[in-house]
Amino acid sequence: MARPKIMIIYTGGTIGMIENPVTHSLQPFDFTHLIDNVPKIKKLDYEINNIQFHPPIDSANMDPERWVEIARSIADNYADYDGFVVLHGTDTMAYTASALSFMLENLHKPVIITGSQLPIGEVRTDGEENLITALQIAAATDIDGEPMVQEVAILFEDYLWRGNRSTKISADYFNAFKSNNYPYLAKIGLDIQFHKERLLRNHAHRPLKVQYNLDRNVMFLTLFPGITETTLRHLLATPGIKGIVMKSFGAGNAPTDRWFVDAIHDAVKREIVIVNVTQCVNGGVNSERYMTGNAMSAAGVISGNDITSEAALTKLMYLFGMGLTADEVKKYLNFSLCGEVSIS
Ligand code: ASP
Repeated sequence: MARPKIMIIYTGGTIGMIENPVTHSLQPFDFTHLIDNVPKIKKLDYEINNIQFHPPIDSANMDPERWVEIARSIADNYADYDGFVVLHGTDTMAYTASALSFMLENLHKPVIITGSQLPIGEVRTDGEENLITALQIAAATDIDGEPMVQEVAILFEDYLWRGNRSTKISADYFNAFKSNNYPYLAKIGLDIQFHKERLLRNHAHRPLKVQYNLDRNVMFLTLFPGITETTLRHLLATPGIKGIVMKSFGAGNAPTDRWFVDAIHDAVKREIVIVNVTQCVNGGVNSERYMTGNAMSAAGVISGNDITSEAALTKLMYLFGMGLTADEVKKYLNFSLCGEVSIS
């Protein structure tokens, strides 16, 4: 059997950071530093190559241009590798995982994103274990010799999560990610226990197709008690805006004041696509349940069901990036494209 061939794409993040001797704050460092700190990697009998961002970044600086860079690195090496491990800062990891899941159409190989809460050079680092486990998952195959994971996933500490279902839930703890509306894909213990029935399978064996155009004309609108008409109208009048992810209350509820509903309805009439997601940690939008949710669907707001806000935002970037009209975008929001939402 050939040795698994894995490509590591190092974008930055805490995993590779070291302390600046003057300011004592953490800053990204190059890949050699990172890999020199994990001699155990050599024990995995894999062929590993790497690509790195120049310079590596704190993921607060992640943006669609860099998602394109990651996607291009995967596409250019797709045929030659069994799997890909993306090392990434935790702060925007869920956005990157979501964006890549849409951009990499017909994906059949694992794209495992990981990082760490403590730099890899620290004694108690979680980075070493995360990196090694991510490599093992990227190399794992099923009984038919097919890649076990055929989607974009986040590996962090004890779990493997679907990328476009994940959210960063902790700035302090090692188990920093969770997907609140979808169970874990694998549990990491003495073994890596995959839940095959939860893994995405793309049965039409089409070649990988990458969507490189992402439209940045999207934004969040977070509702809060006391929001004024001036604020709302100002946000909805953002020049060039095409898609808005509205973070509403509970099961998709919003104020029913006339001025609020009218402002939303006016925006919809101007062809702005508004997707309703919940501010709750889990569960989703059910606009049927309350009158306050009903008013939003009557105003033309699209239910995001149980999609994460990260996936909703990047899905809008992806759909508008394809040059679709508002009506076409709305249609695709009612479908699960790659397991991002619990609708078929
Ligand atoms: N600020 C860092 C980043 O996202 C945090 C981390 O990696 O955990 O790049």
